[in-house]
Amino acid sequence: MLLACLDLEGVLIPEIWINFAERTGIDALRMTTRDEPDYDVLMKMRLQILSDHGLGMPDIHEVIAGLRPLDGAAEFVDWLRERFQVVILSDTFYQFAAPLMAQLGYPTLFCHDLTVEDDGRVSDYRIRMPDQKRAAVKAFHGLNFKVIASGDSYNDTSMLGEADAGILFRPPDNVIAEFPQYPVATTYDALRAEFTAAAEGMK
Ligand SMILES: [Mg+2]
Repeated sequence: MLLACLDLEGVLIPEIWINFAERTGIDALRMTTRDEPDYDVLMKMRLQILSDHGLGMPDIHEVIAGLRPLDGAAEFVDWLRERFQVVILSDTFYQFAAPLMAQLGYPTLFCHDLTVEDDGRVSDYRIRMPDQKRAAVKAFHGLNFKVIASGDSYNDTSMLGEADAGILFRPPDNVIAEFPQYPVATTYDALRAEFTAAAEGMK
């Protein structure tokens, strides 16, 4: 009755906006919540930039389809799915993640949604619910699952806190310093070992 919850960007795939900015040469799309802490303002700016450059969903898909999961990620997901029920909890959007999920064998993904018009224009975005990663782990507990969770960043720490065991994967130094209670893995082998140890600890 053990469930594994994984963050997506930074754990299995590269950061989508940053890579999208690199591939299109649109520097303004590199902006993250570190530059603009108001997520709504940031997303509206991103959508405006896409529109200004005439980039609709088909163009965005083409760029994202050129990205690859991180080295070893697909094998890691296969390994994890043999041992746990796996759910990916991400703050990305289904339409962005789709081409990369195909390369990971379509594991279960809970994230958010973009509003795409018939002509391909991305007109808006819809956050399914606030703090959904933590809410999902809480709901899984209500279904009598125990949860081991792993993520790389601040937006994962409420999920790690709610889980029965949390593991940081390749986090930035400030996250390591602020959350010393979580073990840190920097390779998939180390992450496998942390999942195995956490599962052993729950027997
Ligand atoms: Mg991440």
